[in-house]
Amino acid sequence: MCGVVAVIGKAEASSLVIEGLKKLEYRGYDSAGIASLDKKKLQVLKSEGKLTNLVNQFDLLISKKSYNDTEIAIGHTRWATHGNVSIENAHPLTSDNKVAVVHNGIIENYASLKKTLISEGYVFSSVTDTEVIPHLFTKYIKQGNDFLESGKLVLKVIKGAFAFIAISVDFPDQLFVSRNSSPIAIGIGDKCNFIGSDAQSIAHLTKRIIYLEDGDYALVKNETLDIFDAQSNIVDRQIIHVNSDIGLINKGGYKHFMKKEMFEQPSIIPQTIGSLFNEDQSININLDKLGFTNKSSLTICAAGTSFYAALIGKYWIEQIADIPVLVDLASEYRYRKPSVFGQTSILVISQSGESLDTLMALRYGKELGLTTTAIVNVTGSTIDREADYSLHTKAGPEIAVASTKSFTSQLIVLFLIAVSLGKKFNNIDANKVNKIKQYLNMLPLALANMLKLEDQIIALSQQIKNSKSVIFLGRGYMYPLALEAALKLKEISYIHAEGFAAGEMKHGPIALIEDGLPVIMFIISDGYEDKSISNLQEAHSRGAKVIVIGDEACLKKASFAEIKIKIPDIDDEFKSLLSPILMAIPAQLLAYHVSRERGTDIDQPRNLAKSVTVE
Ligand code: GLU
Repeated sequence: MCGVVAVIGKAEASSLVIEGLKKLEYRGYDSAGIASLDKKKLQVLKSEGKLTNLVNQFDLLISKKSYNDTEIAIGHTRWATHGNVSIENAHPLTSDNKVAVVHNGIIENYASLKKTLISEGYVFSSVTDTEVIPHLFTKYIKQGNDFLESGKLVLKVIKGAFAFIAISVDFPDQLFVSRNSSPIAIGIGDKCNFIGSDAQSIAHLTKRIIYLEDGDYALVKNETLDIFDAQSNIVDRQIIHVNSDIGLINKGGYKHFMKKEMFEQPSIIPQTIGSLFNEDQSININLDKLGFTNKSSLTICAAGTSFYAALIGKYWIEQIADIPVLVDLASEYRYRKPSVFGQTSILVISQSGESLDTLMALRYGKELGLTTTAIVNVTGSTIDREADYSLHTKAGPEIAVASTKSFTSQLIVLFLIAVSLGKKFNNIDANKVNKIKQYLNMLPLALANMLKLEDQIIALSQQIKNSKSVIFLGRGYMYPLALEAALKLKEISYIHAEGFAAGEMKHGPIALIEDGLPVIMFIISDGYEDKSISNLQEAHSRGAKVIVIGDEACLKKASFAEIKIKIPDIDDEFKSLLSPILMAIPAQLLAYHVSRERGTDIDQPRNLAKSVTVE
C-alpha cells in the first residue's frame, strides 16, 4: 500500500527517488509527489493518477531549468485513507514552506492534534491525517529543537500505524525516518543513503539493506545513520545483502504482470515443492516449531485471497490429519477476543508479509501465548521476522495486485502441512504419502495443461463481460475456490461477484437468480458431484445462465448447462485431492480475460493496494 522513498548524498536525488517510486507502483496508488531541498528552498511537485503524470511534469520543469535536481529528495505514492484523491491531499505535505513529509499509514489521533495546531495558528491545506506531522515538526523546530529532537517529540504525540520521512530547510543535510507497523528499509551507500518502503524500491541504488524494526526511528545523513529503538536507545540493526536480481522485475513479454504470474505457475510450483522436501525426501516442515509436539487444534488467520487459501487449508488439514482448524479473518481476530482453549499455535498467511491486519493477528496470537508460524512470500518481511517459524512460498516477486501464483504456492505449503501432520499423528500411512509425492510431481504438468484452457476461457469471458453480477458455486474444496474466484473477478473486472457453497443457495442466495444471470460452477468427480449438480439445476430452472468448468463425467451429468468447459483428464484421486490448485487456474484466467474485455487496469485495479499496510 502506497510507498515512500528518499535519497540523500547522491546527485539527481529527485530522479533517483522517482525511479524508486516506479518500483513501488505495483502496490497500487492514486497520486504521487516528490520534494527536495535546493539552497534552503523547498521544491515540491505533485500529481494525481499515474506516476507518468509526475514524471512528465518533472521532465518539463527540468528542461526549463525551473527545478534543481539536488542531493536530497523524498517521494511518495499515495493510497488515500483520509481525504479524497487530489493534488492538495497528495504527499509530500508541507508546513511553512520549510518542512515536507511523506507518510504511509494512518495517524489515528490526527483530529485532536489538528484542532490544537489550528488553535495555535497553523493553517492546513489538505484534509489528510498526515498534515499534522509537518506542522508538528515546525512547532518543535521553532521551539529551538534540532531535527532529531523534533522528530522524537512528534513521535511522542502521534498515534497509529505509520512510516514517514521528513526533510526541513533548516536541516538540509538530514532525513528523519520513523517506522511503526508500516515497513521501512534503509539502503547504505558510499557517502550516501537511501530509504524505501521495501528493499526493491532502492535496490537500484545499493544492495546493503537494513530493515527498521517496529518503533525504530533514525536520523540519516550522507555519511552517518543513527538508529534508535522505541525507548530511544541507539541500536545496531543488521545489514542484509539483498539479491542482485531483486530490482530486475519485468513483464517478460506479457502484456500484464498478472498474466506473466499466472503462466509462471507451472515453473514456480516445483520451487515451492522442492523447498519443502529434504534430500532424503522427508517433508521439510518442523512440526515442533509449528507448535505440534502433541495433537491439538490450529487457528489460521489471513485476509483476502490468503484467507481463502486458509479455508482450503482447513479442509485439507481436517481431512488428511484429523486436526481441527479454526479459520479467522485477520482483521477480526484480535477484536473478538477469541478463545484459545486447547490450542497451542496460530498460523498466519500473507503474500507480502506486511499485511497489517495479519501482522496484528500474529502479534495478538503471541500475546495469547500461542506459537506463531507464518506462510509468507517475501523473505525478510515484518511477519517473516516476527513469527516464531516461517514457511516461504518461494513464488518470486508478485507484482499484480490480484494474487495468483502466491495463492497456489500458499496452497502447496498448506497441503504439505496437512500431509506432515497426517503422517505424524498416523492418520495416513507411508503408501499414501508416497502417492501424494507422485501427485505433487505430476502437478506442474497438470497446471500447464490447465493453462491451455485459455482460449475457451476467452470465449466464456466474452459471454459474461457485460453481466452486472456473477455467482460462483462450489461444494467441498470448490466452495472456498468459488469465494476466491468471485474475489478475483470483482477485484479486477469490477463486476459484482459472489461465491456461495452450492448447498447454501436454497437458503437465501437463490433469490438473486434472474434470467441470464451467470452462475458458474467448478466441479470434479469427488463423490458428491451429483448433489452439486442438483443445486445447479435449481439455478437453471430459475433462468440462470449456467456455466460448468469440470471433468468429463461431471459435464455429462450437467448436460443442461449453457456453457461447458472440460478440464484435461487426470487421475481421479489426484484430481480430487488437489482440485483447488488445479481449478485456481481457470478462475484466474476468467478474471483476467473478463477484465481485458472490459479494458480495466488489470495490474493496478482501482482502490486496491498490493500490500495493505493499514488496518
Ligand atoms: N493517511 C494518509 C493519507 O490519506 C497516507 C495514506 C497512504 O498510506 O498513502 O494521505
